[in-house]
Amino acid sequence: MTETIYGGGCLCGWIRYEAIGPADNPHTCSCRQCQRHTGAPTTVWAAFPRDRVRWNGPGGAPATFRSSDITSRAFCPRCGSSIGAIDDAPTIELLIGGFDQPDQAALRPRAHSFVDRRPGWWHLDTGAVEPEADETT
Ligand SMILES: [Zn+2]
Ligand SMILES: [Zn+2]
Repeated sequence: MTETIYGGGCLCGWIRYEAIGPADNPHTCSCRQCQRHTGAPTTVWAAFPRDRVRWNGPGGAPATFRSSDITSRAFCPRCGSSIGAIDDAPTIELLIGGFDQPDQAALRPRAHSFVDRRPGWWHLDTGAVEPEADETT
């Protein structure tokens, strides 16, 4: 696997990160938690071991909100941008919309969670991959 470094951050630049690849389990999620966390009908996630993510912006680590028994949602305390989820696993899942270069083949979602929660008018290319049943983000 290629050791790609994914840079990214929030809208205002206060929260910045570098995540060392490979990006694990890139997938979409259309669950209600993700919808409310981001305001988007569907989110796209990539996971990294916690020790492979470095918070290197002026704000350090993002603010968090405890959203379930296993994870906290992360966001910028200045501009409110959704950053991802800091799991107890210990895993950090990042929303790839915040990546500097989200258009990379390695980030293409291969699984789709909670497809049935998306609005009916929202087109989601689920390909041949079956939706995942678990909600970990
Ligand atoms: Zn910000
Ligand atoms: Zn979700």
